Amino acid sequence: MSVAPPPTVALDDRFARELPELALPWQAEDAPDPRLIALNVPLAAGLGLDPDWLRTPEGLRLLVGTSVPDGARPVAQAYAGHQFGGYSPRLGDGRALLLGELVDGDGRVRDLHLKGSGRTPFARGGDGLAAVGPMLREYVVSEAMHALGIPTTRSLAVVATGRPVRRETLLPGAVLARVASSHLRVGSFQYARATGDVELLRRLADHAIGRHHPGAADAERPYLALFDAVVDAQASLVARWMLVGFVHGVMNTDNMTISGETIDYGPCAFLEAFDTATVYSSIDHGGRYAYGNQPLVAEWNLARLAEALLPLIDDDEERAITLAVESLRRFRPQYDVAWSAGMRAKLGLPAELDDAVFSPLADELLALLEADHVDSTSFFRALGSAARGDAEPARLLFLDLASLDGWLERWRALEPEADAMDRVNPVYIPRNHLVEEALDAATEGDLEPLHGLLDAVAAPYDERPGLERYAAPAPPDFGAYRTFCGT
Ligand code: AMP
Ligand code: MG
Repeated sequence: MSVAPPPTVALDDRFARELPELALPWQAEDAPDPRLIALNVPLAAGLGLDPDWLRTPEGLRLLVGTSVPDGARPVAQAYAGHQFGGYSPRLGDGRALLLGELVDGDGRVRDLHLKGSGRTPFARGGDGLAAVGPMLREYVVSEAMHALGIPTTRSLAVVATGRPVRRETLLPGAVLARVASSHLRVGSFQYARATGDVELLRRLADHAIGRHHPGAADAERPYLALFDAVVDAQASLVARWMLVGFVHGVMNTDNMTISGETIDYGPCAFLEAFDTATVYSSIDHGGRYAYGNQPLVAEWNLARLAEALLPLIDDDEERAITLAVESLRRFRPQYDVAWSAGMRAKLGLPAELDDAVFSPLADELLALLEADHVDSTSFFRALGSAARGDAEPARLLFLDLASLDGWLERWRALEPEADAMDRVNPVYIPRNHLVEEALDAATEGDLEPLHGLLDAVAAPYDERPGLERYAAPAPPDFGAYRTFCGT
């Protein structure tokens, strides 16, 4: 009998090679007793990684970083960032490692990255570790976002390390294996700019153009075109968040990608009662990252990216500033176009519908949802029934029925298309009480609730009998939801 040779995992070290100043070679801490908690089989297969091999002891060692393939060069990435508005010149991967880049089945370059793999020289006071619960939260929410069609980093696996982590209590430790089109952040550019080395900044920008926005290379001003592309990608991304009620919770510049993917699921949560002032994060006292502030914050973060790029935009600083400001002005119209197109689709209305008709209708609806604290996910799905002639499921969610009925009459006159609505209004989102339930159970060793939730959110538009509890808002005794950054 012949023994199959171990699979080769072809990890490139392009980031480390092209940007050594931003890449600190490092290795993962030992994991005394690695045990697989979650494995994303389709994602693994798409990356050319055999899921059965990933489950073996050797596969688990790759997923926690204690054994890396020949030729791979794990690094901690350096970046800076504005955290809650205050600038930190040196953040970087304090508890994460970029193992390297893979080419997926579609020929796309993908970072393979670990979170919770031990202290690095960027750890400052942190322990470099992560607990099972928060790593599973990232796994569940990022996979839900992906299934909703929203650009995001993906989760390949969560492996418990067998090492306890001290938070308020002792918790089981874990490593999340994450896949992303890159881990370049606004903060990466801030870091490169702060070194004063313009050639490093240029190399970083060229790397970003090559990986994410290749069209920019042919523009008259490639670095301004890179900035434009990031503005467009972020405007469209944040519009998608707003349409689905996603609150990121910690939109620091180090948590905003150049690719336009959602990254770093910390204190994130989904809205239930529609309220633009909603804040879940326990440390966001000023409401800087409240649901309704997210577009403004994205624009603010992009202004920080523009500042970092100035020396590449034009040798004359005044000219560079004028050009960057002009480009940043794209954000609001781009955001409005993306949001309006998405909201027209949610309402089953044609893309060509006149703004003069659409805008007041949409504004009035949001005011009604906010006034009655309506669960917007349930409402938009129920609106599909209303388009088919049964408005009762939608009416049940409201107190002010007279106003709602008036709105419904105007909306129905536009002949909304119910089937199209069902393809864009999810039934299942990772509701906060269900996420908590799944994480608590998994921390105690019971993975049933986690798998139930993952099954529901993996096909969010496809209503299935038996999954009613995944479509319902939190019971009243769940109370006000708070999320924590101490992950
Ligand atoms: P985050 O808010 O998770 O995006 O993290 C912000 C910064 O804190 C990054 O530089 C992280 O690497 C670092 N960090 C967060 N948690 C830890 C930890 N437990 N140990 C070391 N560094 C951490
Ligand atoms: Mg981060």
